[in-house]
Amino acid sequence: MGDMSEPAPLKWGLIGASDIAQTLMIPALRRMHQDILGLASNNADHAADFATRNEIPSQHGDFGLGRLLENPDIDAVYVSSTNEHHLAHAEAAAAAGKHVLCEKPLSVDLESARRITAVCATHGVVLGVNHHLPAAGTHRTVRELVRDGAIGRVLSVNVRHTSLLPERLRGWRLSDRPGAGVVMDLSCHDASVVNPLLGTRALETVAITVRQGRWETASEDASAAVIRYEDDVLVRLHDAFTTPNTPTYLEVHGDGGSIVANDVMTPEPIGTVLLRTERGDTEVDVPDRRHPYDVTIEYFARAVGGDGRPVVDGQDAVNALAVCQSILDSAHTGTRVPVDFQ
Ligand code: NDP
Repeated sequence: MGDMSEPAPLKWGLIGASDIAQTLMIPALRRMHQDILGLASNNADHAADFATRNEIPSQHGDFGLGRLLENPDIDAVYVSSTNEHHLAHAEAAAAAGKHVLCEKPLSVDLESARRITAVCATHGVVLGVNHHLPAAGTHRTVRELVRDGAIGRVLSVNVRHTSLLPERLRGWRLSDRPGAGVVMDLSCHDASVVNPLLGTRALETVAITVRQGRWETASEDASAAVIRYEDDVLVRLHDAFTTPNTPTYLEVHGDGGSIVANDVMTPEPIGTVLLRTERGDTEVDVPDRRHPYDVTIEYFARAVGGDGRPVVDGQDAVNALAVCQSILDSAHTGTRVPVDFQ
């Protein structure tokens, strides 16, 4: 991920007039000089406002998915509808020959997530998933330290991914809809980080999920999980919508030292990486401070051009979802649950 040159711009359609599109993806697409040609949404009035606010070309008031996918100029779509719609939207886009950059989690269950990867493969379109954390320079630096043996044999990983869910996002995430809850929202990010960091299979999970916020919620808003990976590596994930001002971190502990990456479970290109060994503490330089969304777009656009692969592809996202599913199943049944990892 060191090449700073930009790939050729793609022509994009957006599916979902979402908060994440407006706040993070559209600005990133524009920073990367990508062209946004249109928008599909469920709600024409909301979509019309959204299109105006975000300077998306007028489509004569037609924000239907069919209209967007009929546009032969569109190369790729960004799917940021709510999670239960990702399957239908990705399938329709792939069938229309559009490359798909889909929001995380890839879908609401493993079967439908696998179906998305299969459909994209059948239609020969690239599937990337916006698990943006693995694209961050901090996370890449941690992966390189581990790969280079800086802390010896890895024994455990701890992730704290906690904050207070902003008021504007307290909608479907706290509902009983499929894909709601903190595990699908945040633990899936953690798994997208830990899986490639360890490069081994997640084997089994024990977890407890709770509802601890000062709000009405039909789904879990905090979760603590322990996952055993191959070679008896222990991974602990603490995810919450409920704790304001909690610093996030990723720690990796080995038999030769530890890596402590503070403030790195965030979309912003911030955070520090500290290496602690018997020689003392060293703050490790993070050479790549680009926005993770920019890196995600760059790799996706290159992959569309036949060069390399997205930072997170469909299979990676399916495995992140497999970890989430095991957390939810363990919390639900009160038992250890195997991870359906591939
Ligand atoms: P929002 O509630 O803001 O947006 C969801 C959008 O889905 C709505 O704008 C709605 O559009 C659209 N939608 C719902 N049904 C349909 C439909 N049938 N057809 C077309 N569009 C539909 O959600 P968020 O921005 O909070 O989240 C959107 C996605 O992005 C989720 O998958 C979420 O997990 C992911 N996300 C990822 C983040 C990351 O860190 N990578 C961070 C935040 C979110 P309309 O109202 O116009 O119908």
